[in-house]
Amino acid sequence: MLMARDIWKTYRRDAVEVRVLNGLNLEVHTGEFLSIVGASGSGKSTLLHLLGVLDKPDSGEIILDGKRIDNLPSKERDRLRNRTFGYIFQFYHLLPELSTLDNVLMPAYVAHSFMNWWQTRRQWRKRAHELLEKVGLSLRIKHRPRELSGGEMQRAAIARALIMNPRVLLADEPTGNLDADSGRVIIQLLREINREEGVTIIMVTHNLDIVPMTDRVVRMCNGQITDDPGLLPSSSTAQLLITV
Ligand code: ADP
Ligand code: MG
Repeated sequence: MLMARDIWKTYRRDAVEVRVLNGLNLEVHTGEFLSIVGASGSGKSTLLHLLGVLDKPDSGEIILDGKRIDNLPSKERDRLRNRTFGYIFQFYHLLPELSTLDNVLMPAYVAHSFMNWWQTRRQWRKRAHELLEKVGLSLRIKHRPRELSGGEMQRAAIARALIMNPRVLLADEPTGNLDADSGRVIIQLLREINREEGVTIIMVTHNLDIVPMTDRVVRMCNGQITDDPGLLPSSSTAQLLITV
């Protein structure tokens, strides 16, 4: 469904060149929950940004349903970002002045003209309420982000990522800032969303404890993807390895 083909990416800042992706290939299947693991700085976020058309590769192709999407005009890329992909980040990126409900509704505001929004707002609010119930935040609808715990902020961010009914959720270290229990709740929630709504999920993480809950694990190494999860420990030793 979503494919990265021979992707190369180098960052340049003044005289410093950082080559991050070296001819990377990845195929993601419809409906799967994929984890991508790898050392810090191995290019996981870079890859996620390229898959979700937030950035462009130096060369190579990103292909969705057999159609190249990395080189589309910016309007079509905006549309993909708004309708096809949902994004979840380690630091939530909620707007501090808005309530939980308005944060969740933000992608829908952005997608509509004022008139259009006015005519359809009730239906969007209904969907936002349903999503907030799904993520267990029915009693936090009017709260501001600073009045929520980390786990609650991430659950609000998940509801926001789902409001436009995306086909693909891209999650960058979604549990990276949470304690083990809140992190587990987030992964269970993603697992449920994947099963119930059929959303394809690509999750980057270096928390090896949570990857057994996903369908498939690949590893980033030397700017490429390897299917060999050789470095993956059993979950009992995972915590130890993370802290080393
Ligand atoms: P990961 O998510 O696996 O930790 P990243 O994709 O964030 O890795 O980064 C990979 C490498 O690219 C790092 O060495 C980082 O310093 C560098 N890098 C990432 N983004 C930029 C940028 N916008 N400009 C310059 N270098 C960057
Ligand atoms: Mg990263």
